Amino acid sequence: MSDPRSEERARFRTALSAHLARFADRGIRLSFWWRDDDAIEPTPALDRLLDIANGYGVDIGLAVIPKGAGDALAARLDGEPHAVVLQHGWQHKNHQIREEGEKAAELGIRRDMDEALRELIAGREKLEALFGERFIPALVPPWNRISDEIAAAAPGIGLPGLSTFTSNVEKAPHRLQTHLDPIKWKRERRFIGWESAQRRFDEIFEHRFGDPEEPIGLLSHHLVMDDDHFAFFEEVMEVTMGHPGAQWPSLRGLFGL
Ligand SMILES: [Zn+2]
Repeated sequence: MSDPRSEERARFRTALSAHLARFADRGIRLSFWWRDDDAIEPTPALDRLLDIANGYGVDIGLAVIPKGAGDALAARLDGEPHAVVLQHGWQHKNHQIREEGEKAAELGIRRDMDEALRELIAGREKLEALFGERFIPALVPPWNRISDEIAAAAPGIGLPGLSTFTSNVEKAPHRLQTHLDPIKWKRERRFIGWESAQRRFDEIFEHRFGDPEEPIGLLSHHLVMDDDHFAFFEEVMEVTMGHPGAQWPSLRGLFGL
């Protein structure tokens, strides 16, 4: 008997490869990149993630939460050829008012600007001290939300890079977006499934026909991933690696930092 899940996976693989072939036919290689959020310390899940990145030779941007991060993570990443560190806010604390129906954000409109910027500076300095050259001065706001005011001020405090989730933002220098997060956050954090993942890629590639320059960002959260999630990332790597319609440039180059 054939396994329906492996059939779905095979269909996903075929569809992704066919999409890329349509770009390759036009002489276009779409750029891919990978961001993973919420690291503070070494864990087996982080090891597994790094194994995949290293196995395929692609950079992974680890959005590290500065307040919780320490020497153990710095020691674990020491010598890693593909691990790059980005700044995930300061402490991943919500400051919006849930009772009023506001969505969670650490860097949202409720913040006192001076206080928020002081925290971000402390975070940047800590990551620089811990990770040195491995750190790219790019801000990844917790929950992918940031007020316009804080976003505008961030380059002035040494954080010129910015990355959130969605293609619905204006292009800007040093801005690198993520577009596909394969976790069902409201349903026990399960994998969205191969068919859903395929539909999301359909939409992403639809956008790329008009704008092939924008890199496609994959988003993971190693701390809540199960085997299905890891399989998804492996499958995307497997298809894109060496495909004439895809490339995985260095993350520093993509951020332009
Ligand atoms: Zn986060």
